[in-house]
Amino acid sequence: MRGAGAGGMGRQLKSEPIALLGIGKIARDQHIPAIARSDAFHLTATVSRSGGVDGVENHTDIAALLAARPDIGVVSLCMPPVPRFDIAMAALAAGKHVMLEKPPGATVSEVHKLERLARAKGVTLFATWHSRHAAGVARARAHLRDARITHVQIDWREDVRRWHPGQDWIWQAGGLGVFDPGINALSIMTAVLPQPVHLTAATLAFPANRDTPIAADLVFAGAAGLRVDAAFDWRQEGPQSWTITVQTTDGELRLTDGGATLHIDGVLQTVAGIGEYPGLYHRFAELIEAGQSDVDTSPLAHVADAFLLGRRTTVAAFHD
Ligand code: NAP
Repeated sequence: MRGAGAGGMGRQLKSEPIALLGIGKIARDQHIPAIARSDAFHLTATVSRSGGVDGVENHTDIAALLAARPDIGVVSLCMPPVPRFDIAMAALAAGKHVMLEKPPGATVSEVHKLERLARAKGVTLFATWHSRHAAGVARARAHLRDARITHVQIDWREDVRRWHPGQDWIWQAGGLGVFDPGINALSIMTAVLPQPVHLTAATLAFPANRDTPIAADLVFAGAAGLRVDAAFDWRQEGPQSWTITVQTTDGELRLTDGGATLHIDGVLQTVAGIGEYPGLYHRFAELIEAGQSDVDTSPLAHVADAFLLGRRTTVAAFHD
């Protein structure tokens, strides 16, 4: 792989040292196991205010990592979006290849700023969308490439107490609220639809005591009468749903389980993949090797549009 950072540029390495920053739920559930399985990277250091990972060298902030380990040319950032920007800027300014958890930023403009800095530094910036690596998504995209799509229904309904217990940042400005999972649906939508859509209406429901919405209903329009209805709701108890149903003039395509399962005209399709996070690290290695970046802000732009255009309602206060 094409190396980076002082002492790394131009070396051909089988496996690059990588540092993981922000050791919380997603780092432990997905990033650490995915890096352990990766041929391209090995976990060499962490940046964690709460202790990091047993047996792995830890630093308390990005400046300490950059000073102590100039040999590490690749970093993966797993902290929430608001504190992530300054850390990403520091890593890029130091010439590191950077992978960002989703959403890639708290604003669209800051992501573009990161993209410009990565280009100026000649390093890779990878703004990840893990749901695009769910097993059914590539096949769905291929199936819909030449389809005439008439309607899309997105139902992303989950219990916030089950999936985000005690996470204050999701309820604070910049934390996105229900768009934190909802943006995953939008990342799939923007990947599988063969034409762009734009938001035409939205209603956002804010708990009386919170800065971010607990539910949102969105309507998008595309060419030739295409309409997309999206319902995001964090108040769902009982069965959870992460479903996208696409009606075409030839039949129905349905992605369930967040994109992992695909039915076409009611028939379960055989789909395979290496897994969402192994897929992300595989892609990151490819981008570094090719000297490219991958920064698609379209899902974040749709969320920004919902905050711009959306009608706001106030609903019952939410307590964890
Ligand atoms: P989390 O567990 O609440 O926090 C992640 C870690 O970020 C914290 O444990 C902390 O790590 C660090 N951190 C928090 N606030 C910080 C601050 N102000 N400055 C520096 N570091 C800070 O969150 P998460 O669920 O892992 O989510 C993190 C990101 O991953 C979000 O963008 C989220 O959308 C995305 N994501 C989450 C999931 C999921 O299922 N939870 C799934 C996919 C993607 P240290 O204690 O080590 O410093």
